[in-house]
Amino acid sequence: MSFEALGLHASIVKAVTDAGYTVPTPVQEQAVPAAISGRDLLVSSQTGSGKTAAFMLPALHKFAVAEQSQASKNAAQEAQNARARGERPRFKAAQPKMLVLTPTRELALQVTSATEKYGTQIRRIKAVSILGGMPYPKQMQLLARNPEILVATPGRLIDHMESGKIDFSELEILVLDEADRMLDMGFIDDIEKIIAATPANRQTMLFSATLDGMVGNMARRITTDPMIIQIAGSASKHENIVQRVHFVDDLSHKNRLLDHLLRDETLDQAVVFTATKRDADTIADRLNIAGFSAAALHGDMHQGARNRTLDGLRRGQVRVLVATDVAARGIDVPNITHVFNYDLPKFPEDYVHRIGRTGRAGRNGLAISLVNHAEGMNVKRIERFTKQLIPVNVIEGFEPKKTASAPRSAARPGTWKPGDNRGGAKPGQRTFSKPGAAPRKEGATGGGYKGSNPRPASERTRSSYGDR
Ligand code: AMP
Repeated sequence: MSFEALGLHASIVKAVTDAGYTVPTPVQEQAVPAAISGRDLLVSSQTGSGKTAAFMLPALHKFAVAEQSQASKNAAQEAQNARARGERPRFKAAQPKMLVLTPTRELALQVTSATEKYGTQIRRIKAVSILGGMPYPKQMQLLARNPEILVATPGRLIDHMESGKIDFSELEILVLDEADRMLDMGFIDDIEKIIAATPANRQTMLFSATLDGMVGNMARRITTDPMIIQIAGSASKHENIVQRVHFVDDLSHKNRLLDHLLRDETLDQAVVFTATKRDADTIADRLNIAGFSAAALHGDMHQGARNRTLDGLRRGQVRVLVATDVAARGIDVPNITHVFNYDLPKFPEDYVHRIGRTGRAGRNGLAISLVNHAEGMNVKRIERFTKQLIPVNVIEGFEPKKTASAPRSAARPGTWKPGDNRGGAKPGQRTFSKPGAAPRKEGATGGGYKGSNPRPASERTRSSYGDR
């Protein structure tokens, strides 16, 4: 199927072709025509599946069609005449036509830049990000331009709504991106408040890794006769990402192994995840001293510093990003070949988000967890959540002295078999084994895979770094 066949306006087809896209991804194939027809959407798809274009292309299509209408031309002419008469447009509040809510600042910035890329051919479409951590005067200036599209994190948006800078009475399209994550971060009340300020006849599109539980309940309340799209493609199963566990004895063993793995000749760029902001700084410093171009990214940094680091990563100047979970969520840099869990994440969902930083845009990736023997149970929790077994790997010269406390014995029938892509590469895929590496000691944990292991409601608090 082609982008033309989805019914998109020629200007948008040109923009995506210029961006190098040749065919729509599965989520785009289903979502774009339905959204153009005006239907509400509930979409379960992972980041990396092309979901941003799935909601942004149909929205831009509508704006492109409206731009051609006589009414729009008349309004633009009227504004131009007023300017010629020296009248300043009276600004009361921004009246956006589209609002995209995202859980993090990074994701919001990414959605805004994707919007600019897809909308290059459409005149008069402005998209701005309203984010926590940004100076208020700068945001007032952006809002004074009365942008058609706002991409925002919930907390800061509420601040502007309460001070009368935004009026949603003209809103046509509402998108909740990574809705599950927003709820996990404790944004439910903010989201409800924002939705209550929008017109009931708006079009609503909700994207989430899961449509179960709390997200499903909210989704049903805020949509009308939605089309439900479930994409269980390779992106959501991360079939293009090879996963491994390396057991380590102690911190010094872990640091030596990380240093060795970062010298892998197949490594282009990498993200190293740490549990704390302090560790992110310390490890980034240590790696810099060791000669890697490393940088830290975490929620204690000012937005300007975070943006500079992300720019450096995109431009390839930063080769190793050392990051905490929330700060790195949504990062979309195609050259990230490796993800390292220096510390395992607290919640299995975060493991999925972390490894999704590699294997972007159809490429392959490698995700390596450096695990202390005492953390064997945490690996099992992740395996139960992802319903995938993570093979254990040992590198010659870096063998752990101890064996794992919970022995990872042979695979249970029907759960994993040699040759599955869970541990190795598919034929024709790039493999990441280094010459001289010891044979992989693949094993499997027991434990029936009885579904997910969601974060308990009591722990669903707003992230400590917040977004205001
Ligand atoms: P997303 O799931 O929106 O985070 O997108 C993941 C990546 O896929 C981004 O780098 C997009 O630029 C890229 N992408 C989105 N749609 C397509 C497409 N149809 N063809 C190729 N790449 C795409």
